[in-house]
Amino acid sequence: MSAFTIKPSEKANRTVNPIRAIVDQVLAGPPSTCPLERIPLSLGDPTHFGNLLPPDILTTALKESAESHKYDGYVPAFGCPNLRSSVANSFSSSNVTYTPDDIVVASGCSGALELLLTGLLNEGDNILVPKPGFPLYEVIANSHGASVKYYNLNPEDNWQVDLKSLEDAVDSRTVGVVINNPSNPCGSVFGKEHLKDILSVCEKKGVLPMGDEVYGNMVFEGSEFFSLAEVSAEMGGKIPVVSCSGMAKQYLVPGMRVGWLMFYGEGLDALKGGVKNLSQVVLGACHLAQQASSVALDDGCVEFKKELNLKLQTQANAMASSLQGCHGLTIIQPQGAMYTMVKLDPKKFKDIKDDIDFTKMLLDEKNVFALPGTCFGIENFFRAVYCAPKEMLEEAGQRIREFCEDHKA
Ligand SMILES: *Cc1c(COP(=O)(O)O)cnc(C)c1O
Repeated sequence: MSAFTIKPSEKANRTVNPIRAIVDQVLAGPPSTCPLERIPLSLGDPTHFGNLLPPDILTTALKESAESHKYDGYVPAFGCPNLRSSVANSFSSSNVTYTPDDIVVASGCSGALELLLTGLLNEGDNILVPKPGFPLYEVIANSHGASVKYYNLNPEDNWQVDLKSLEDAVDSRTVGVVINNPSNPCGSVFGKEHLKDILSVCEKKGVLPMGDEVYGNMVFEGSEFFSLAEVSAEMGGKIPVVSCSGMAKQYLVPGMRVGWLMFYGEGLDALKGGVKNLSQVVLGACHLAQQASSVALDDGCVEFKKELNLKLQTQANAMASSLQGCHGLTIIQPQGAMYTMVKLDPKKFKDIKDDIDFTKMLLDEKNVFALPGTCFGIENFFRAVYCAPKEMLEEAGQRIREFCEDHKA
């Protein structure tokens, strides 16, 4: 027996990602007896299969930056001047002007969200988050002794926000609303008018709109991405917006850990100052990675992004059409990002009671791994990531089809 019993802090104890416990339920039990090779449709890491590579200019810039030894040192904790000015330039438009002072760089978009929410939340406060939605917002809020309340996305309406549920969820301790567009896990993209309606609710209720736009511009034919700041500007620019984005998804380098916050509009100076103070704790993101990101943003990588969207669209279509007409499933055509949420009707199956059951049995019998909707706060859906090569997605679709037939009620 050791003489020491070192206890973690209360904060550490309440910092728990709910996905883990749910995934453990799916993975519980004996290992799959299926002889087929595992197809993971569960991973939100686009680099996993090796079919999606970052633009050459980014890789070259990283190598040259390292060799130059000009970027080995510390930079301002809230971001190196080059990158802040590249972000400001590439996200400004005819309506929205960012200066480098409006940008705070962090270790990934997750780090940016953490900075923002730490800067905003006191114990007992809450933020509104989408349901279904990305679990990280809740993890961060809970870690601060704050909480989340949910507003609904409606699957019957292309996952648009149920505006009434949004308005009704605001209470006296609500400080902000997270709007994730394009959406993880839904793969949906909001139109401009819908974003105006969402901002109007935020304005009416006096809560800060916070955009998680890490998938900005990753949209397919027929959809267009509008940033919250752009939409606020079009409404007269009276509604302040803080948005986060980063290199992880749009440039296919989640491992680089570069993300940022962008402050748009009036009334945000104190919050921005607070967030910059907070950035002093970890002294910012990797300098080399910031420099390389700056080079890629300055270039714009227009062709690369066009090709990436086309590839993702092809993969999304392959996934959707291979599941189309599957017994007991309803497909909602994805419009962007890397995900789709597939609805399942337990009544159509003889021995599957919910999404946890479905994903667990699918893994066991067909070695296809998809995350249950419960991970994202909604039952009887599963999330499929379409980052895998087209042929692999078609193979997964075929196995899911057989699985659904095998369990038909
Ligand atoms: C991947 C993801 C992030 C985090 O991105 P990092 O830059 O890797 O931290 C944030 N929000 C959503 C919705 C994501 O899917």
